[in-house]
Formats: sequence, structure tokens, C-alpha cells
Amino acid sequence: MKLTTSVCSLFCLLIAASCNTKSHTDADDGSAIFNADSFKQKVSVLASDSFMGRKPFTAGETITINYLQQQLQAAGLEPGNGNSYFQDVPMVNIKATAAPTMLVNSPKGSFTLKGFDEYAIWTDKVDEHINLDKTELVFAGYGVVAPEYNWNDYAGLDVKGKIVMVMVNDPGFWTGDTTLFKGKEMTYYGRWTYKFEEAARQGAKGCLIIHNTAAASYPFAVQQSGHNSERLQLDNRGKDIKNCDVIGWIPEPTANKLFAAAGFDSTLLVKANKPGFKAIPLNINLTTSMTVKTTYNKSHNVIAKITGSKHPDEVIIYSAHWDHFGIGRPDAKGDSIYNGAYDNATGTAGLLEMAKAFKAIKPERTVVILLVTSEEQGLLGSQYYAQNPVYPADKTVANINIDELNRFGRTKDMVVVGSGQSELEDYLKEEVEKTGGYISTDPHPEAGHYYRSDHFNFAKAGIPALYCNVGIDVVGKGKEYGKQLEDEYTKDHYHQPSDEYDPKTWTAEGAVNDMKILFRVGKRLAMGQEWPKWKPGSEFKAIREGKK
Ligand SMILES: [Zn+2]
Repeated sequence: MKLTTSVCSLFCLLIAASCNTKSHTDADDGSAIFNADSFKQKVSVLASDSFMGRKPFTAGETITINYLQQQLQAAGLEPGNGNSYFQDVPMVNIKATAAPTMLVNSPKGSFTLKGFDEYAIWTDKVDEHINLDKTELVFAGYGVVAPEYNWNDYAGLDVKGKIVMVMVNDPGFWTGDTTLFKGKEMTYYGRWTYKFEEAARQGAKGCLIIHNTAAASYPFAVQQSGHNSERLQLDNRGKDIKNCDVIGWIPEPTANKLFAAAGFDSTLLVKANKPGFKAIPLNINLTTSMTVKTTYNKSHNVIAKITGSKHPDEVIIYSAHWDHFGIGRPDAKGDSIYNGAYDNATGTAGLLEMAKAFKAIKPERTVVILLVTSEEQGLLGSQYYAQNPVYPADKTVANINIDELNRFGRTKDMVVVGSGQSELEDYLKEEVEKTGGYISTDPHPEAGHYYRSDHFNFAKAGIPALYCNVGIDVVGKGKEYGKQLEDEYTKDHYHQPSDEYDPKTWTAEGAVNDMKILFRVGKRLAMGQEWPKWKPGSEFKAIREGKK
């Protein structure tokens, strides 16, 4: 009996032990590695004054990218770009100086417009002199070619060598008609970057966007600051990348002056909302010039990988921007270092944690950790990667981008930016719901935030891309509290020297929770064979399917 009992006890103990081990393994899907202290330690380093605000081309860049390489290497990741952990990103600083005025010739006579007050122009070209010489002006509605919405403002129109004048946003915005594009929600066709790109594709010499505060979501003053200023662009010398000579904005009163000179009025703008609208030559021409000074420099993306054990050629890319604004104008307290703790030391540190987690689970597909430069200068590092991909776009399963991770307590929600784009959102929803949470949608879809962060350059290459904002429904404290924290940050710290790491108030419990969820979304892809798709109506679906 004794023996039996003891054998039984031993047996039961063994069963219990193995059950415990098993249930432990089941519960730990690899996400137990995420840890608030380890995350916070990395944020504190990246956001410290010795990193000098992580500005491209400065000593702050060197110290940042070396730290990132060392961390990725220590986590056991392989170099992501051949033998290198870096991808050079050649850039050019373009300083355009515009002539003070622009001459307008119309059938009703000539007049001049004053630069800065009546228009704001610049260029992405590197030619020393840029001239408009009696260049013809055409009103091209929204300047949109969108096959999925059966819309083409350039149909039957030859704008080669001409200047197009177009409206900001898309037809859905003004009409609110949800069958027109996405109604109030901005599509990529509504973004100013798209208007310039499309005009260049059409061979136009220039593109001027008619400003409207509601439709643009910011005042004309924002555009005026671009007039006669310096802009950083990718160095595209030797590449077949089309740009207009002159790009810029005109406020509505200027547009009305031009319409009047051509014998029209602003009802033209309303007509352009109707499907089938035909672009109108205005029988007006413009004359002005710009001189351009350029300086060239190189920044760096940091890139590392864990080669997949079964499908090494299929790739999941996690991205975050490492850069911020460096040392600049001091704030009221005399602090001049733009530490960028929340934006984006959190996302950068998050990716270093992600690297460790994926290394530990030995993914079947390749997982790439891509820390990009110059997001703050216009998403340039990710644009360079998308134009010069180390891993082919058609073999890239998905992109998951992190720009800011929760500093405080856990939230019940995660905010999907630009919802309705891809099936990655459904994967995210499943993972969030498994933790008892829920998905919130972007409170300002009309502002087009989906087109304003790094994942967007992956989307433009057809790669399904997911981007979330920090949730606001703080566990135990509610939405009002979370919203207040966000508003406070936007007002007092966003893009200011005071965006600093605070060891006293940052708990990072929320970041850990969100990192686990984003890890599980990627893990599902890295351990499976799924290819998430763009949803019907997405501007990027046709690109992925090779139809655009
Ligand atoms: Zn950011």
C-alpha cells in the first residue's frame, strides 16, 4: 500500500508537473519576453540628452544608429542588408528662392501675383534655374486618376508642359456622399503628395493646389512656411523619378482671381465634384522663376533580420522611425534638445524588444526589423526603402509600423489608423479581443493620417501595412482620462524639447500589452502561410494585384 501510494503520489506529481509545464508552454506563446523594465531602459537611453535628439546627419545620428546596431547584434539578429546592418539613404537639401512675383497673362489683360501672400511655391527638382515662361494653366478638378472609383480628371487631357490647378481632398469630402470615394474619410487621392505625383506622371510642368482650410485640415500659413524654405528630399540623381518643375499652393482668393481672369467663377469648383467632369483650359499663362541651391548628404536606415527556417524568402517587416528633431530652438525653460521620447524612442525601443521576441521563437518566415531615418522630414527613410527594397515587395507579406507606444497604464483599446484598408486589421482585432480589449477607429478620418506615417510607403508599394495609435480607454480610469493624457501631450510636448522620458510617471504597462498584441499579429504570419489582402475599395489593392 505504502509503495503503491508513494508510486501513485510520484506518478500524480509527475502528471501534475508535466501538466503544469504544458499549460505554461501553451500560455506562453513567446510574448512573456516583453518586459516593461527592459523597454523603459532602452527608451531612456534613446531619449537621453547624449543622443542629442537623434537628428539625421548629426553626431546624434551616429550614436543612435551605432546603438541600434549593437542592440540588434546582441539580440542575435543577422545583418539585414547583405553584410551590413545599415542601408545608406542618400538625400539632398533643396533651397529654392522664388522670384518675388508671378505674371499672369489672360485674355482680359495682365496682372501680377505676390509670392508668399498670393501663392506659395517650391520644387523637388535639383536644376539650378527653374522657369515658367508663359506656361499655360489648366483647371483639372481634383487632379485624380482612380480606376477603382471610375474617376479620371485627366481623361482626354494633354497637360504636358502645362501647369495644372487642382483642388485639395477628394470629391467625397465636399459632397459627403459615401458612394463617392470614401465620403468624408480622406483617401490617398485627397493628399497633396498624391496631387503632385499624379501631375508629374501626366507630364505637367507644374501643379498648384487650391487651398481650403476645411479640406486640407490646416490653414494656408502651413503652406506659406514652405515658400523659399529648405526641403530635404531623396537624392534621385540618375534615377527615372518624375517631378514637376514647380509645385505649391494657392489660397482661394487667388484661385478666384484666376478664374475671373479666365471668364469663370468658383462654381467651377462645385462642377468638379460631379463624376464625368471635364478639365478646362483657362486660356491663361504664368511667368515666374526660381533659383535652386542643393547640398547632398547621407543618412541611414538600420536593418536586421531573423532568417525564416522554412520560408526564408517570405518576409514580414516591422518598422519604426529612429529620427527626431535634434537640437533646435530652445523652449521657455531653455531646453534645446528635442529628445523625442514618446515620438519615437518608444517605437524604436519597441522594435528592439520585438527583435528579441522573434529571435526566441525561431520564425518560419523571415522577420525584418527596419528602423528608418528622416520620418520627421517627410517619411524619407521608408520612401527610400520602398523604392530600393532589400526584400522584393511581392515577397513581403506585411508591414507593421510602430510610431509611439503607450507610456502609461494598459488600455482596453487600440486605435486602427485608416480602418478598412487590409485584413491585417482583422488579425489585430482577433488578438485584441483575445485579451478582452477592443478596436477603436481613428477619430479624424478626414485628416488622412493613414498617409502620414512610414507604413504608408509600404502601402504605396502594394504591401499590406498596419498602423495603430495608442488607445485611450485606460483600464480603471476610462476614456476621458486617456483622452486628457493625449491632448496634454499634443499641446505641451509634441515635437517640443519637453517630449522627455520620465522614470517617475512612465509605467509602460500599456506598451507591453500593445507590443504583445503586435507581436502575435506578426507571429501568426511568421509561423503560417497566410498572405493578408487589401480590402475591396482600398487604393492599394490594384497595386498588389499588379493592375496599377
Ligand atoms: Zn513619429
